[in-house]
Amino acid sequence: MSPPIRILIAAMGVVLAPAHARAEELRPTELGEGIFLIEAATAPRFVGANVGVVEFEEHVLVIDPGFAPVAQFAKEWIASRFGKPVRFVVDTHLHADHAFANQLFTRDGAVVVAHESAATLTSGASAAAFAAQDGERAAANRGDLAYVAPQVLVTDRMVIEDATRRVEILHLGPGHTAGDLVVHLPAAGIVFTGDLAVNGAFNYFGDADPESWRDALERLAALGATSVAPGHGPAGDASIVSNQRRYLEELTAAVRRGVASGAGLEAIREALDMPWYREWTGVEARERGENLARIYAFEAGLEAPARWIAELGLVAERERPRDAAGWRAPRRVVIASWLSANWLAPVAPGVELIVAESGAQAAELAADADAVVGFCSNEILARGRDLEWVAVSSAGVERYVDLEAWAGLDCRLTNAQRIHGPPIAEHVMALILALTRGLDDALAAQARSEWSAGAIREEGLLELRGKTLLVAGLGGIGTEVARLAHGIGMRVIATKRRVDGKPEFVARLGGASDLTAYAAEADVVVNCLPLTRETTGLFDAAFFAGAKRGAIFVNIGRGRSVVTADLLAALASGRLGGAGLDVTDPEPLPKEHPLWRAGNVIVTPHVSAGTDAGRDRIARLHRENLRRFVLGEPLLNVVDRAAGY
Ligand SMILES: [Zn+2]
Repeated sequence: MSPPIRILIAAMGVVLAPAHARAEELRPTELGEGIFLIEAATAPRFVGANVGVVEFEEHVLVIDPGFAPVAQFAKEWIASRFGKPVRFVVDTHLHADHAFANQLFTRDGAVVVAHESAATLTSGASAAAFAAQDGERAAANRGDLAYVAPQVLVTDRMVIEDATRRVEILHLGPGHTAGDLVVHLPAAGIVFTGDLAVNGAFNYFGDADPESWRDALERLAALGATSVAPGHGPAGDASIVSNQRRYLEELTAAVRRGVASGAGLEAIREALDMPWYREWTGVEARERGENLARIYAFEAGLEAPARWIAELGLVAERERPRDAAGWRAPRRVVIASWLSANWLAPVAPGVELIVAESGAQAAELAADADAVVGFCSNEILARGRDLEWVAVSSAGVERYVDLEAWAGLDCRLTNAQRIHGPPIAEHVMALILALTRGLDDALAAQARSEWSAGAIREEGLLELRGKTLLVAGLGGIGTEVARLAHGIGMRVIATKRRVDGKPEFVARLGGASDLTAYAAEADVVVNCLPLTRETTGLFDAAFFAGAKRGAIFVNIGRGRSVVTADLLAALASGRLGGAGLDVTDPEPLPKEHPLWRAGNVIVTPHVSAGTDAGRDRIARLHRENLRRFVLGEPLLNVVDRAAGY
């Protein structure tokens, strides 16, 4: 029995399953022909998870063997009912109450199927967790059983089919755990949900990813099953899934409101009132303290948002500051006023958060602070002699500080690299689509109230599907650009300084030296490179001369990576078919600059990163880094002193 299950059982006041389960505690229910749910009691005592049984022509599939007494019952019941071997055991997730007794079936030749990330579930049925459970195993299970790791790992889906039956084993995203699987029988309209959806009070959030869980439940509902077999509690209709989602959403909303108002976990618990939940489960929602605590940990930022960090590709520094000689916990941190102190406070217990309204005020306050979050300048660095960390809200830091002066200081800088990938990638697509769909001409015609197809892109509208887009600089932003371009059907090729980690949606990845060769086959070239010595003036006459005739050039990197005169010449000669520029050299672009009047050019004034969601994202990064800073854990997005970004 894994630690959270133990805690949960204690919290619910139920008695641990003894070595035998009584017959009335295990009720096989036929959900469809040859499809059964053996419902295992959770009250008055907890016997284990429900077991699913699906009959095939020559074998049987078992879902969640559970604890040994339940599995033993299931095994005997299957033998007498079907007289066929169990060939597959599906663990919907690796909590011990679902997966403990795998070995009862693998001994007779069954293969265990689980999600590929199930093994990362630290509190689940890992070998170590099982080994640690010896005492209770003797009481609740059979001492002769050992952990059996899954032999077949599912990424998104797996199908088991014979002449009589088709079963789809699906991963709908992280939810109850990182590695949830559901077992769907489309013809029968039946789905076994594991603990992704539970019917009743035995509903546990301890390893949950609440944000992704909601989406997974939406996908679960979209399967359209009319008969739902949950991990705990009786089988029923689709309302099991909608109740699970309602519980998750209402609990999250209540906690979010509480966190925003500065309420602590206890105050939120006391205020929690969910009569419908009591009606559904027989338990008050506020009594499920561990579920509330899990949601609170997410909403208050007490826990690293691991999936969010991985999705954006954020990188933590290698050394752990706490391990360095002389490390001490911070005491005073200056924060920009747009960051709510209420919202940051839970991750910085015992730390004084001082709000600064301006950069000048932040510089004054920096003198006796350990960190400044949300402002950065040479003055802040000069005055803050004890500063350990300054957090910048943009990707580039070179416009705030003299990098050479900073190189002599101990203070670490963190930036917003990769954070702005999603909005900038959308901006790139907007520029490309505006050019290929002739929106620049259309808007000009519209301003003249002129309905004239001939006024729009005299070369004709372009279709992107099947064309090639080159991402120069496949970092955080470039990867998002590649993802979107691939999504609308483009072939994506890319270059990167270190050629590693090619995403599936990129057809070919080369090094910096491949840029010219790749450009020759690209219909669209997007510069996502940071400004360094190597990339200054990189896009010059020689580059444009090698580009595919009529290609579109987009720049959201830095203006000075492009030789503007050469870009203008390439546009004028028709070598380039158009350009979308969110950054220019010079910046701001002077009124009389020829770029304003060049044909097929769309200029936006360096605005691609600023969006509604972008602000939330940067706030979340600052909060996560503050949490790490207070604990002396490695910070995310630390600026490399040598590279300057
Ligand atoms: Zn469970």
